[in-house]
Amino acid sequence: MTISSKTAARVPLTGGAGAFNIHRPPLLHCTNCGTRIERLVPPGDGRERAVCPACGGIHYENPKMVVGCIPVYEERILLCKRAIEPRYGYWTLPAGFMENGETTAQGAERETVEEAGATVVDLQAFALLDVPHVDQVHMYYRARLDSLEFAPGEESLETRLYAEHEIPWRDLAFRTVTETLKLFFEDRKKGSFGFHTVPLFAPR
Ligand SMILES: [Zn+2]
Repeated sequence: MTISSKTAARVPLTGGAGAFNIHRPPLLHCTNCGTRIERLVPPGDGRERAVCPACGGIHYENPKMVVGCIPVYEERILLCKRAIEPRYGYWTLPAGFMENGETTAQGAERETVEEAGATVVDLQAFALLDVPHVDQVHMYYRARLDSLEFAPGEESLETRLYAEHEIPWRDLAFRTVTETLKLFFEDRKKGSFGFHTVPLFAPR
């Protein structure tokens, strides 16, 4: 995952929320001119925005997209043990923040290379998970591992293939991963894979 440097300045949410368990702090200074931001509703808008009183810039803050894969080799799924916070030491599907200039599928492939040293093929859109309390949307693709060549990247401690009965459910890093894997195994039992949209809200 390429989120380590980007997340360094972020404040972790407490309470085991889900997603990457990360929230962006509010913007404090204008990214154009450095002036301290004011929060107000611009004319014609219905929401409070980060507005620069000096240059007039309006800094819209919108959800981040996280993309990842369910890499499948025969009956098994490739998981990565995280070498970074949040959720150091917990298992995850390879996923991370989408970069500008790439498609969601390219991002999912790239993250799988970066975190698991694995090449995937035959990507099929599988699950879209909304995580509004952390301002994120996660998209997972089913994908086929084209060989048994994989190795932990810089952000993983370990990578290994898990059969369904071996999945470390209690040691999964994020609710998004748990939900995606549950849906995957349910669909596999039925013998047909759908596309799932899943709203995940903050645990009460
Ligand atoms: Zn400004």
